[in-house]
Amino acid sequence: MSSNQASAKILGLINEDTSSWVVAVLVFCAGAVLTALLALTNVELYQRQLRQRFELLASERVSRIQERLDGQLQRLDSLRRFFVYSDEVSQEEFNGFANPMLIWTQAYSWAPRVLDADRLQFEASAQADGVPSYAVREMDEAGGLRTAGHRAAYFPVRYTQSRSTMPLPTGFDVDSEHARHATLQQALTTGNMAASPRMNLVGLEQENRNGVLLVAPVLSRDRMGTEHSGVLEGYVMAVISLRKLMAEGLPQQDLDNLALRLYDLTSPQTPDLLYQSNASAVPGDLQFGTALTFAGRHYALQIRPTAAFIGANPSSTDSVVVLGALLSFMLSALLYALISQRQRAVRLVEQRTVQLRQREQQLRSAHGQLRNVLDAATQVAIIATDLEGVITTFNIGAEKMLGYSSAEVCGALTLRQLHLPAELAEHVSELTQRYGRSIKAGEAMLVEAVEEHGHQAHDWTFVRQDGSHLRVNMQVSPVLDEQDQWIGYLAVCLDITERKRVEEELRTMSVTDALTGVYNRRYFQERLQAELLRVERHGGVFAVVMLDIDHFKCINDQLGHAVGDHVLQAICARLCHRLRRSDVFCRLGGEEFMVLCPDTDGDQAYALAAELWAALRAEPVDGVGRVTASFGIASWRKGEGGDALLLRADSGVYAAKLAGRDRIEPELV
Ligand code: GH3
Ligand code: MG
Ligand code: MG
Repeated sequence: MSSNQASAKILGLINEDTSSWVVAVLVFCAGAVLTALLALTNVELYQRQLRQRFELLASERVSRIQERLDGQLQRLDSLRRFFVYSDEVSQEEFNGFANPMLIWTQAYSWAPRVLDADRLQFEASAQADGVPSYAVREMDEAGGLRTAGHRAAYFPVRYTQSRSTMPLPTGFDVDSEHARHATLQQALTTGNMAASPRMNLVGLEQENRNGVLLVAPVLSRDRMGTEHSGVLEGYVMAVISLRKLMAEGLPQQDLDNLALRLYDLTSPQTPDLLYQSNASAVPGDLQFGTALTFAGRHYALQIRPTAAFIGANPSSTDSVVVLGALLSFMLSALLYALISQRQRAVRLVEQRTVQLRQREQQLRSAHGQLRNVLDAATQVAIIATDLEGVITTFNIGAEKMLGYSSAEVCGALTLRQLHLPAELAEHVSELTQRYGRSIKAGEAMLVEAVEEHGHQAHDWTFVRQDGSHLRVNMQVSPVLDEQDQWIGYLAVCLDITERKRVEEELRTMSVTDALTGVYNRRYFQERLQAELLRVERHGGVFAVVMLDIDHFKCINDQLGHAVGDHVLQAICARLCHRLRRSDVFCRLGGEEFMVLCPDTDGDQAYALAAELWAALRAEPVDGVGRVTASFGIASWRKGEGGDALLLRADSGVYAAKLAGRDRIEPELV
């Protein structure tokens, strides 16, 4: 667009001249920056949410483990109380009490205190109680059980209620093994429950052997019924598999959201990894640590997220980035299309405007040239009219030909007013007949062009301003507007006066006898045919008078041919003088002549012949003397042809010759 529209803006923001590519790239970059900011915010939000969820899960897991540990303590304590408050506990009673408590616990055992002196009796009573091979045993170096050596006292396992299908370690003197001994001692010393360090548990499946032993001393009651003042009667024990404690009832390894590690920190110098879950932790700073205490031991529980946790909490950042990039791209593409289309449209309008201006200029120059051509065409009259025939254009040629000025005729005269009225009236009746409808004089000039939908050329006679006539050939063509609507007529007229003169001269020459100036045989024949046609069609009469000069050969022979010619000319002049205007006088050839007499019967023809005969012989021809001729007459008879008529006239001449010449042979009846 031009500079005065430089302020025009697309969407009120973008200058129209700005490249659509630049706008698209800028919009895409802006979109990319916004997307990046959004993605960053999203990452932070995601991290925060992830941490919250992780901490929620981890603390839930911690409390669940804590619950399980507390449950261990409570259940073992109730078993202890069961023993404290029972005088005697049988195998069945033990089973009945311990079995329902096997929750997260692999086994519960009762190990009574047996003095060496009572060993045999104890073994015997156990054997008698349904365990035939019962013996007090101790742990050998390989971790197996063998018959125990003699000590002051034993704590052999007497009752066991286990979830394991493995052989039970009945008779195993718990006090015989170092770590277990230390745990028993601690329990006894504190008078409270004590948990062992991690150990290889006996009587369990291989995968469950890693665990701890929770022991509680059972003291006999005093007279007042309090426990602690009593004598040690034995220990109740809970056998706890760490794998079962930590993992049982939780999701499968690859589905678990959390990876756990449980450390025993009771001796700070040698922290011991008690348990590690099979699911591996993913790297990262997400972790949760807590301290647990369990029967005198200090544990540290470390929890980290697994791949399953990350998988279950996917980040939406990727989607944000993809969506943002897609939206940016679509927006930039949309703007690109919008701007480039608008710019293309603007360019097209510019091009079209330029083309229209050029076209306007061409038309102006064409119009100027046309005007020049019209003005230059001084030999051609160019006249344009409207549909009513009113003249709208009148060029210099027309002015010269017709004597009117353009100002006089344009808007004032119609084309038909320039024509000879009689000729136009004739044309009107001819057209009315041809088209079978009444034609107005106003449209007569143009109706053929209209009817034929094309150009029509006719010879017309114009009436000049001074009243004189001008023969023209006028070509009429319709003038159409841009919608092909008929809006007027264009008449191009050529002066054909000279042509008409030559034509008429030639015509005259072709029908005139060169020597005498009267009509020749050809013209006679034409007129004879026309007359025959007329009388046959409309009725009426006509006659011919034929004459042949007598002894003409002698004139030639005696006076010469030139004199003969002169005689012919003189005779013609004399006879023409006597003839009526309607009579047609022709030289048939040599010294034979014929008069065609329309509306003339035989008698009138005879009278005419007599008049001619008299005129001929009345005066002598200069230098020659009297010249006579023999006449024959024939009046047309109904149904008679031209040849027959002429033959009768010729026969009349012949008869006159025979009869002595210089006479008129009356028409034979
Ligand atoms: P008749 O009385 O029987 O008619 O005798 P005639 O001599 O007139 O008849 P004929 O037909 O024998 O002779 C006609 C002559 O007319 C012969 C010819 O030389 C002459 N003639 C024909 N045409 C012309 C002409 O154009 N000029 C001249 N000078 N003589 C002509
Ligand atoms: Mg003759
Ligand atoms: Mg003759």
